[in-house]
Amino acid sequence: MKKVGILALQGAFREHIQMIKSLGHQAIEIRNVSQLNDIDGIILPGGESTAIGKLLKDFSIAQTLINKINNGLPVWGTCAGMILLAKELDGDENAHLKVMDIKVRRNAYGTQLDSFATTGVVREVSEKEIPMVFIRAPYIVDIDESVDVLYKLDRNIVAARQKNMLVTSFHPELTDDKSFHQYFINMM
Ligand code: GLN
Repeated sequence: MKKVGILALQGAFREHIQMIKSLGHQAIEIRNVSQLNDIDGIILPGGESTAIGKLLKDFSIAQTLINKINNGLPVWGTCAGMILLAKELDGDENAHLKVMDIKVRRNAYGTQLDSFATTGVVREVSEKEIPMVFIRAPYIVDIDESVDVLYKLDRNIVAARQKNMLVTSFHPELTDDKSFHQYFINMM
């Protein structure tokens, strides 16, 4: 059984907790820095990246989290979580944890397509079609060559992995498909 930390400062963390428990693993709500010591991996949920980024600093979690990720702690950022992990944000000087070699555009689908759902096969993760829910979602506009693209929607990268770091623009925790959560468990 793995101990999966779920950053629980703001956003859609409850749904991730349910998913992790339903796969038979322990879910630990992370609200302070000492809790980072006893986990096998951490999920950074969707929500508002500006708010979560500020809380990470206010609660003095950011620097320890950066060190742990750089030392190999498996991390998965969904939506706002992807924004938090990026080294660069498109048109915005204020990147947050700056650990993953991706450049991310916030709210990339604009107002018309603020939220939408689709499906797709992410070969690395599952042979089945996976439902994908996008909510004011970002996508990746540039990557380092050491980053693996897991899925593109049209021409845009919406799922990627670099070693111990996984990111998705969409929200698997808001669907009943557990493939991405299982894939992340397998990274631990
Ligand atoms: N648009 C949000 C942001 O920029 C992310 C949306 C989400 O996580 N569902 O932080």
